[in-house]
Amino acid sequence: MVWIIGAGAAIGVAVYAWVRCPEGGYRAALRRRGTVEDQPRIQLAHAIRPGALTIWELHVIPVSRPAAGSAVHDLVCPVCAKTVTCTVRAAAAARTRRRLWFILAVVGLLGFGVLVWWGVVNFDPENGVLIVVTVFGSVIALVVSGGFADAWWAEDGVSLHGGPRLRPRYVGQHTLRFP
Ligand SMILES: [Zn+2]
Repeated sequence: MVWIIGAGAAIGVAVYAWVRCPEGGYRAALRRRGTVEDQPRIQLAHAIRPGALTIWELHVIPVSRPAAGSAVHDLVCPVCAKTVTCTVRAAAAARTRRRLWFILAVVGLLGFGVLVWWGVVNFDPENGVLIVVTVFGSVIALVVSGGFADAWWAEDGVSLHGGPRLRPRYVGQHTLRFP
């Protein structure tokens, strides 16, 4: 039990330090990403060296947002000359999606917290079912929350077509990244 509390405290301190760090921390990263502008800020990325530490080459997406709704564009990747189809949404729609992913990520994180708390409060070494449910439930809640946090981070109202359901941003050698 002590190591769970210790690990939780260590993660909490690390997250706090990262959030507070003025250079290279959370706020610096948010500034780098910026707000939703009239022109998509996110760029088309081509994996020039795929693998665990992928190196991406980024190119500006040379289309303007529609005033309302969304528009479909065929982009030609300047690296491999392949056509990548994408949907570009109006700024209002992009902001709404960013907000939605943020709320879902927070809900997932709260679910994680509640399950851990519930598991600790009701801890009973005899009750294997409760342990399995709270451990697996909290891990799943954390993973789902992380997925929504990633979607929130990368949301700029642009999506690529043809991506896998669970990682819709990654289409073959391409993805979307902020510069
Ligand atoms: Zn390419």
